Amino acid sequence: MTTSKPKSSAPRSRTGSTNKDYRRRSGQKKTAADYPAPVPRQTTQTLTGDATATPCIVLKDGREKSLLRRHPWVFSGAIAQVNGTPASGDTLAVRDAEGHFLAWAAYNASSQITARVWSWDEHEIIDAAFFQRKVAAALAARTMLKLADASSGMRLIHGESDGLPGLIVDRYQDVLVMQVGSSGVERWRDTLADALQELCAPVCIYERSDSDGRELEGLEIRNGVLRGTLPEQLEVTEHGLRFAVDVSHGQKTGFYLDQRDNRALTGEFARDKEVLNCFCYTGGFSLYALRGGAKSVLSMDASEEALQLARRNVELNSLDASRAEWECADVFVALRKLRDQNRKFDLIILDPPKFAPTAAFAEKAARGYKDINLLGFKLLRPGGLLFTYSCSGGINEDLFQKIIAGAALDAGVDAQIVHHLHASADHPVLLSFPEGAYLKGLLLRVA
Ligand code: SAH
Repeated sequence: MTTSKPKSSAPRSRTGSTNKDYRRRSGQKKTAADYPAPVPRQTTQTLTGDATATPCIVLKDGREKSLLRRHPWVFSGAIAQVNGTPASGDTLAVRDAEGHFLAWAAYNASSQITARVWSWDEHEIIDAAFFQRKVAAALAARTMLKLADASSGMRLIHGESDGLPGLIVDRYQDVLVMQVGSSGVERWRDTLADALQELCAPVCIYERSDSDGRELEGLEIRNGVLRGTLPEQLEVTEHGLRFAVDVSHGQKTGFYLDQRDNRALTGEFARDKEVLNCFCYTGGFSLYALRGGAKSVLSMDASEEALQLARRNVELNSLDASRAEWECADVFVALRKLRDQNRKFDLIILDPPKFAPTAAFAEKAARGYKDINLLGFKLLRPGGLLFTYSCSGGINEDLFQKIIAGAALDAGVDAQIVHHLHASADHPVLLSFPEGAYLKGLLLRVA
């Protein structure tokens, strides 16, 4: 494992045919006036990755502030000019309007997020050793937190928050699933896979690069084995429960690792309760509730494949299937039906898919969250518990709480917050990147 830092005193230029890293010698400070006049990028600039150029990104005056706060994204609107003819995936220097170095970042000509930061250190060399160090650091953080004690499934790399913008790596036992969501990671994909292979020795690295975000980044969809062989059957054991995981066809990378500890919390409150689990996927929360002694668990999801796996998971754990009922349904419709039938529950889980990927969708998403939560409150018996979540990047914790408060008000119930809930510790959130805190939840108790 290579962990030594590159020599900081002698910035070098890497001008191989791939992985270009355009850097300027120290002492060659320029100002924006030294650069050619901005060109309308969409018409005249050909992004060919000319190795002889020393391209960089120059920000508009005043738009360096978020980088100075170490937020790792450069939006297209903040850019005064792209100097030279870089190709997407190239490593470029980002400079303020006066030419001061701000960061090394991966360029993407096709994205609103035109650059994502690799490093704030002008002397850093973005090469294979750099990525090896980043991967090793992410693994060391998980080891230090003793996360493997709780689960054989774990997020090993959580994108920006682990210093690798656009890269997700989840481990399911000895299989790694890699999700590439930025042109920078796309460029270094094989290098990253090599580092993961060397440091984790998995039997397989599987690539699930088919998230919605890839299209926004102008990247094509990819789904298949990258290294090794994928075992036919794969499962993880999480807090003592076994879950079958389908990494090639399942949602996300196969399983929702982020809810691990919230699922365990649900199990602790489930004894003798009538439970309703909405958006159950492969039965995560339902299995914890069954093991925790729930009287009954009604679970609903729109995906028949997910429900099939959920039933198999009940069998895998020898849980009492007679207490579990599975319904393939649209939760928005099914909740209304339950309300009309005057059904009541003691514990309800609402863990819907992402309604608002970005803030632009927040208003519509807010209506969705309010709708299901209002119905959830109405279906709860007095003293009942509601576990409610949002994994929408476009809805922050504050707004989510306000939406839930509005839902309770309209449902005519008083509710207390018992717990603020978040993703498990293998999904850390970089302080300078609040977007990393996409999963937020509340445990509420109605009066
Ligand atoms: N709680 C789950 C993860 C839920 S992910 C766990 O712990 O594993 C969200 C789920 O919502 C997905 O399984 C998806 O199939 C389902 N879904 C999406 N839209 C739906 C709808 N309108 N009605 C019911 N299920 C829906």
